[in-house]
Amino acid sequence: MKIILLGPPGAGKGTQAKLISGKYSIPHISTGDIFRKNISEKTPLGVKAKSYMDKGQLVPDELTIEIVNDRLQNDDCKNGFLLDGFPRTVKQAEALDKFLESQGTKIDSALLIEVPQEFILDRMTGRRVCKDCGASYHVKFNPSKSEGKCDLCGGELIQRKDDTKETVKERLDVYSKQTAPLVEYYKNKESLCTVDGTQEIEEVFHSICDILGSDK
Ligand code: ADP
Ligand code: AMP
Repeated sequence: MKIILLGPPGAGKGTQAKLISGKYSIPHISTGDIFRKNISEKTPLGVKAKSYMDKGQLVPDELTIEIVNDRLQNDDCKNGFLLDGFPRTVKQAEALDKFLESQGTKIDSALLIEVPQEFILDRMTGRRVCKDCGASYHVKFNPSKSEGKCDLCGGELIQRKDDTKETVKERLDVYSKQTAPLVEYYKNKESLCTVDGTQEIEEVFHSICDILGSDK
């Protein structure tokens, strides 16, 4: 099962990705998480990515495409994968198609989590993420069981630097200009499925499972 999660920042991609990856036993590949790990380890990739991420802009396509192509060659991707936050531009989508074609395969579904803009600011400014495993929580909509601690791994919960009001505005602008065209891209390929992301987390997950079925 090879899946892409599409949707604006704050739509719930990361939250659903953890649930899907658990149920279908496929690796959750988040380009945002890969960049954040590199930033915390102060690698050359992290230093480059940080300057874009702090401003809410996209990391250049060449860098992003290369890390995803590398990651998809890992053994754990043989039976499928779940991409969260990639592709984010038409150029990235074309590069992904080309890479998969070279491996004799293709994407099964591009799942669009639809959430109107008026929901996004609250979701993102209230988001808290685990410093260690990247799990996403919300102070109001999805609090952790023990305050400030990740339910999954016990890691410290922090607020992302790019979850401020100003940066969220820029990220939404970037989404509508550079990423939203992918909806049409996958519609044309007949791989687009849409779910209502304004429902409760568990309901969104049920809608996704209805689409994906019980196949692995
Ligand atoms: P994305 O990965 O698309 O940027 P996240 O999964 O991190 O989004 O979710 C953004 C924020 O919204 C998080 O704080 C998360 O806990 C919360 N959230 C996710 N899904 C829902 C939902 N269905 N209803 C309410 N809040 C949600
Ligand atoms: P996310 O964790 O998906 O919200 O991504 C956080 C930030 O990482 C984005 O605002 C971008 O700066 C960067 N990023 C993540 N994925 C990509 C991508 N596919 N292309 C370019 N930049 C990305």
